[in-house]
Amino acid sequence: MFDLVLSNVRVDKTITDVGISNGRIAAIAPGLDRTGAAVEECDSALLLPGLVEAHTHLDKTLLGMDWVENKLGPEIREKIDNERQMKRVIGLDAARQSARQVVMSIAKGSTAIRSHVDIDTENGLADFEGVSATRNRYSDVIDIDIVAFPQSGLVSRKGTAELMEEALRQGADVVGGLDPCSIDHDPKGHLDLVFDLAVKHAKPIDIHLHEPGELGMFTFRMILERTRAHGLSGKVTVSHAFALGANDYLGISRLLDEIAAAGVALMSTGPSMVPVPPLIRALDAGITVCSGTDGMRDLWAPFGNADMLERAQILSQRNNLSQDIEIERAFDVCTYGGAKVMGLVDYGLTVGAFADLVVVAGRNVTEAVVTLPPRKLVLKRGRVVARDGKALVEAP
Ligand SMILES: [Zn+2]
Repeated sequence: MFDLVLSNVRVDKTITDVGISNGRIAAIAPGLDRTGAAVEECDSALLLPGLVEAHTHLDKTLLGMDWVENKLGPEIREKIDNERQMKRVIGLDAARQSARQVVMSIAKGSTAIRSHVDIDTENGLADFEGVSATRNRYSDVIDIDIVAFPQSGLVSRKGTAELMEEALRQGADVVGGLDPCSIDHDPKGHLDLVFDLAVKHAKPIDIHLHEPGELGMFTFRMILERTRAHGLSGKVTVSHAFALGANDYLGISRLLDEIAAAGVALMSTGPSMVPVPPLIRALDAGITVCSGTDGMRDLWAPFGNADMLERAQILSQRNNLSQDIEIERAFDVCTYGGAKVMGLVDYGLTVGAFADLVVVAGRNVTEAVVTLPPRKLVLKRGRVVARDGKALVEAP
């Protein structure tokens, strides 16, 4: 007997039923017994695993607030300093704002989110506390990982490491880092602090690395050395990794192999304005790759919609993917890749897995990535949390 039966749903190429019990997929077979079960008629729509938003900044979004005109230049440092000050000027409440983005993500089919959250010596742990409150509020309907993120600098801003440590004591899941050379001007100091915190608190690491070309490759090798030395294979992610987009085919090939051997994962959003890691080459090298929306509708840039199905399309277009089988790999980055990076257990479309699922119109994954249909159903642990593109939970 099942709690819920998804009737006539497309799993791979077969129209079948999916029976869900106790939050897990209990059976995949046609003609399942519906006695006592709720039934969702899916009309041959496609079943997908829950989308995984593996890199965003829930504390930053301006969703639902007054419009703030963006007059900033392209320099990262300018954006960082502006945001740190403006958060207080405009009254950005991280609890309220992160809740708004979470509800948007649920409506778009994400069932797990990894959010970097700013920690600095001006705003202290306020953003961390706000996103933690949101994590508690929505814990039944979405998984949220929090990265303690030194957005304004770590070595160059004394007191930040102590605040990050306090966040880890209070439940932050991941140690963040940021451009050890170009922001902190001290790669050894920065990376030693990040890895020491990770080892001391037994947490994984996720480092923003925007540094380009030779500089980024230099930092990469310092990250790989420390990953090997501390035995942190499978526990380190490098986000953005723009250096891997350099026009150096042989050099990048060697580095991709080293990254794969060290068990370091990559996160790429597929941005259009900079060189990006070559997605298929990274996957072929055996690297786990995940993706995310990154900051959206915030003080850095006004774009973004938290749609990880659309992210698979963006990744495909940025990497010149057009074969179905290639686009499916971009989709896997936005699902299985994110799940692996976040350490989600029992994830996927198999009997025994948690019923974190999305149902959309479409005959196959590639068609869904191309057409971006509204999410007909989103399930978290077998419970319907969004229907016909609308979340069934509310934001403040
Ligand atoms: Zn980011």
